[in-house]
Amino acid sequence: MIKTKQDRILNTFDAMFPDARCVLNHSNNLELLVAVMLSAQTTDEAVNKLTSHLFKKYQTVEDYANASLPELESDLHSIGLYRNKAKNIKAMAETLQTRYNGVVPASHKELITLPGVGRKTANVVMAEGFGYPAIAVDTHVERISKRLGFAKADDTVLTVEKKLMKTIPKNRWIKTHHQMIFFGRYHCKAMTPHCKECPLVDICKEKNKKL
Ligand code: SF4
Repeated sequence: MIKTKQDRILNTFDAMFPDARCVLNHSNNLELLVAVMLSAQTTDEAVNKLTSHLFKKYQTVEDYANASLPELESDLHSIGLYRNKAKNIKAMAETLQTRYNGVVPASHKELITLPGVGRKTANVVMAEGFGYPAIAVDTHVERISKRLGFAKADDTVLTVEKKLMKTIPKNRWIKTHHQMIFFGRYHCKAMTPHCKECPLVDICKEKNKKL
């Protein structure tokens, strides 16, 4: 991507979503990790609704590790994939206890050793929890990257992440990641993007399909 085009996209993101941020409520890195694990194929609103009482009951790694699986499943049942998420969160907490002294590790390499924690979740925790520059490619980031030409339509999620890291200045990774999510959530929606009012319509690779 040529720099003028890239600058225009980033400036547009700044103008449209100057305050884009992580909207998953959390007050420490354990809560952040659990919230991100819960957010797979679930809206942030649904996760926040659940965690508003979940985080009162489960406050420590031990609380998750010592919970029985049926009880944790019951506490998570309001969101999708709750059985799998309960299993992973319990196993994640047990691994934190046995391998990391009960502390969420500040290392991407170590985070991805935790059950249920993939590259995207680890990137979010590194960025939000530890302030380490990272770009987590979720469904919004992938779609926007492809529509605006940061990546090709058939690129894998990992390739999209690598291309974004190569193109976008490192000091903007965290902000741009949030802005892409907001741009995808509120403007360039998957099925009903606002193409007629889009300030980037001349750059977009999918406008003809969407207008
Ligand atoms: Fe999204 Fe439409 Fe804008 Fe393209 S023109 S970036 S599809 S809103």
